[in-house]
Amino acid sequence: ATGLMAGKRGVILGVANNRSIAWGIAKACSDAGAEVAMTWQGDALKKRVEPLAQELGAFMAGHCDVTEPATIDAVIDALEAKWGKIDFVVHAIAFSDKDELTGRYVDTSRDNFARTMDISVYSFTAVAQRAERIMNDGGSLVTLTYYGAEKVMPHYNVMGVAKAALEASVRYLAVDLGGRGIRVNAISAGPIKTLAASGIGDFRYILKWNEYNAPLKRGVTIDEVGNSALYLLSDLSTAVTGEIHHVDSGYHTVGMKAVDAPDM
Ligand code: NAD
Repeated sequence: ATGLMAGKRGVILGVANNRSIAWGIAKACSDAGAEVAMTWQGDALKKRVEPLAQELGAFMAGHCDVTEPATIDAVIDALEAKWGKIDFVVHAIAFSDKDELTGRYVDTSRDNFARTMDISVYSFTAVAQRAERIMNDGGSLVTLTYYGAEKVMPHYNVMGVAKAALEASVRYLAVDLGGRGIRVNAISAGPIKTLAASGIGDFRYILKWNEYNAPLKRGVTIDEVGNSALYLLSDLSTAVTGEIHHVDSGYHTVGMKAVDAPDM
């Protein structure tokens, strides 16, 4: 993919460590010639993100906690000061109380419902709203979603409801920003063992179940998500917007799951 992203600059929100999906996307963009900026959430994660940013020669655009809108403003200002305009934004942020990512959805609390929606759904709109001003025509925004938006997955609970709302926001944002050729899409990634995923009950089982039942009979890697993101972020997909693109070894295509994970 060398050169595919040459001349493009963009920001990637959601790198926590070298297992993050956002890191897979950052590497792919950088390898393809893009100039990349990253944000971090708090000092503890800054220590992890800093060496990764150095590896790519990426710009450390600032602390960003989406529950503090001023930190999003500050990141946009930092990007504008550094580059003037940007071409792409990757949003790989989600959060819910892990006590509610197990058991029954019906028991979701009002507080955690609101926090989950704020951090995992509204934040994408909040970022798009601010990024619009500094984005070049023909820019591209990508967020990360999961099949639990479409069908009930064990333990995914309120996060499934949030991802459904996130996918709907992708379509509304696509219409609002489409006039300037700015595209808005999501990648629906198969399960990957990351920090966020470790909060989901029985995650190991879900991972194995997917591996045994997906058409490709295996999981997906952050590098594969990164490569797929290149399509949506680059000029290969200039006529694609409002799309939910599955990168899940085909799992979502299978109606009747056949095989239980034998070693479970
Ligand atoms: P991760 O833990 O590496 O990344 C989650 C990121 O969200 C972290 O960088 C964290 O700092 C950030 N975040 C959480 N609350 C925040 C806040 N208030 N402000 C700013 N940032 C905040 O895990 P990941 O699995 O790479 O998650 C990235 C995205 O991919 C999420 O949207 C997740 O739902 C989605 N996704 C993950 C999987 C999977 O199986 N891992 C599958 C499909 C979709």
